[in-house]
Order: sequence, then structure tokens, then C-alpha cells
Amino acid sequence: MPPTIRLEVVTPERVVYSEDINLMEAPAIDGAIGILPRHAPLVTVLKTGVLKVASGGKRFKIAISEGFMEVKPDQINVVVRTAELPHEIDVERARKAKERAEERLRSERSEIDFARAEAALERAIARLKAVERDIDIHE
Ligand code: ATP
Repeated sequence: MPPTIRLEVVTPERVVYSEDINLMEAPAIDGAIGILPRHAPLVTVLKTGVLKVASGGKRFKIAISEGFMEVKPDQINVVVRTAELPHEIDVERARKAKERAEERLRSERSEIDFARAEAALERAIARLKAVERDIDIHE
């Protein structure tokens, strides 16, 4: 049996994922980090993006928006504003959110909050990416 590490992904609303996994890649603020069991302790800020997870021969992604990650040798705690597993993602809703954000970013109206539109665009892109099947995990 390959070694495992427990992955807990929580939001203020719910526990999204809590299982033993073999490998994960996370979008840390200063670049993607690969995490294997018995990783050195670490605390980092996470950007909006996807967690790439390998568990029991399966690979999948979890969409997240910004938060924190704490890594201990036997457990990874991801605490983020929002997180969704691929089957929970409403693709049409994410496409619409992406279009809305892109339209706002193209607009020249002064009342547009560009940082907010940019963040909404990143969330929509992460959700659309999480439902794609191709997964390339870097350790
Ligand atoms: P929208 O404009 O479509 O509401 P958003 O990025 O502003 O998107 P958030 O504020 O990030 O939405 O999320 C609010 C709640 O809705 C969270 O619980 C999040 O998990 C959920 N959620 C957002 N978009 C989707 C989606 N496309 N599919 C499933 N759940 C979603």
C-alpha cells in the first residue's frame, strides 16, 4: 500500500473533503506546491485555483477560493472561503459567472470594482478547471 496523508478541506459552511490521499498539489501564493505523506510542517496562503489530488489510483481536482493551508507530516488542513468537488459544480453557473466578470473587466464604467470582478473571474475559471479530466500533478 502506498503511504497516505489525511486531507481535510473545510469552508466556514462545511467539511468538503476528509480522506486519506497519496499526493496533492496546491496553489500556494508563491507557486504550486506538491505534498506527499511525511511532508515537512508548513503553513501557507492559498490562491483561488484547484487542488489536484491523487488517492487510491484516482486523480481529481477540488476548486477552491482563497484561504490557508497547514501541512503536518500526517495531515493537510485546507481552510478556504469556498470549495467544491467536481460533481458539485454547476458548470452553467460558472460559465455565466465567467462571462459576467469578463464583461465587467472590459467595461470602462468607473463604478466597476475591478478587483472584485477579477476575483470572481478567477473563481469561475477554477470551477471550470476542476471539472476538466486532464490532471498533471507535480510532486
Ligand atoms: P456566483 O456569481 O455564481 O454566485 P461566486 O464566485 O460569486 O459565483 P461564491 O461567493 O464564490 O460564488 O460562492 C457562494 C457559494 O456558492 C459557495 O457555497 C460556493 O461553493 C457555491 N458556488 C459558487 N459557484 C458555484 C458553482 N458554479 N457550482 C456549485 N457551487 C457554486
